[in-house]
Amino acid sequence: MTQNKIWLSSPHMGGTEQNYIQEAFDANWVAPLGPNVNGFEQDLENYLDANVHVGALSSGTAAIHLGLILLGVQAGDAVLCQTMTFSASANPILYLGATPIFVDSETTTWGLCPQALEQAIQDSIQKGKKPKAIIAVHLFGVPYQVAEIRKVAITYDIPVLEDAASALGSTYKGQKCGTFGDIGVLSFNGNKVITTSGGGAVVTKTAALKDKAIFYATQSRDNAPHYQHSEIGYNYRMSNICAGIGRGQMEVLDEHVALRRQMHDFYVKLFASIEGVDVFSTPNDDYFANYWLSAIIIDAKKTNGITAETLRLALEAENIESRPLWKPMHLQPIFEKYPYYGKKVAENLFENGLCLPSGSNLTDKDRERISMVIKSVFG
Ligand SMILES: *Cc1c(COP(=O)(O)O)cnc(C)c1O
Repeated sequence: MTQNKIWLSSPHMGGTEQNYIQEAFDANWVAPLGPNVNGFEQDLENYLDANVHVGALSSGTAAIHLGLILLGVQAGDAVLCQTMTFSASANPILYLGATPIFVDSETTTWGLCPQALEQAIQDSIQKGKKPKAIIAVHLFGVPYQVAEIRKVAITYDIPVLEDAASALGSTYKGQKCGTFGDIGVLSFNGNKVITTSGGGAVVTKTAALKDKAIFYATQSRDNAPHYQHSEIGYNYRMSNICAGIGRGQMEVLDEHVALRRQMHDFYVKLFASIEGVDVFSTPNDDYFANYWLSAIIIDAKKTNGITAETLRLALEAENIESRPLWKPMHLQPIFEKYPYYGKKVAENLFENGLCLPSGSNLTDKDRERISMVIKSVFG
């Protein structure tokens, strides 16, 4: 008999979500606006606690798209983007007709490499085109080198779009991820630390920028009694039903982050005695990760040839989901024609890495099954 599937990261309800949805039904706020949307934004602003403004949207991808628009990215512009990420970080560059320039990761946080970034900027400037924005990504919830990236951004006066889609609850020097960029982005997709079944948010430094984001997200309606438009609009607002799920999820966010961190601890202990396997972890106490996904790197020279793929297949045979790390964007068929700067750090991570089941809802029995497979693979 096959056992239940153990997922990489699945939704984990806290219990109060349906109360907020019931309220929405009772008041007939079944629309992409309403008290839950305002309440969820307020909850996020309180949580992020850095004088930021939050606009709830239909997805993290929508937030990246609007974020780039707010930063003034237009057709023909160049935008720097971390290559080691999910495609949603890069796709909106192309929605706008701009050109991505992909930049490698460094080996400590697997985030944007400051040296490769600087080289890409200098090269672009030399070619007569200063990039319009930098997209930096907190990979699997581990903060990137925030201070170093900010320094480069300030030196060249290029704004940062901080992709914190998977980093809600992570901090750098005590400050919440999502609040570091000129624009921040959050995602509440079904597989993230908290979910609204699907959703995202844009984080801004001023109320005016948030208002502008919401203006674009609601079809760019000018102030007139009829439908009047002077700018291109989008239908990107979050629904009041989804926001109700979000409000319930905010009540358990810290608890769920703690549970994800326990999963990470579980893997650290499990692999401690296994030669050739490193569990991806924060470099020092400045960094606090929500460990959205726990990831490992396998050095097959030290494991008698056992690779990430060996382990993935063994887990799959036991109905346990695992997945390679993001395939770098500059290696993707859709993006391979664009420039890339780096030293193949991201390639190496992709070739030797694996993401393991990381959900906050995994049980002792699940951990037991995972542990059995890993121990049997590594003897
Ligand atoms: C999930 C994710 C996104 C996209 O968010 P959606 O809400 O799924 O559109 C973007 N970037 C990263 C790094 C992500 O993990």
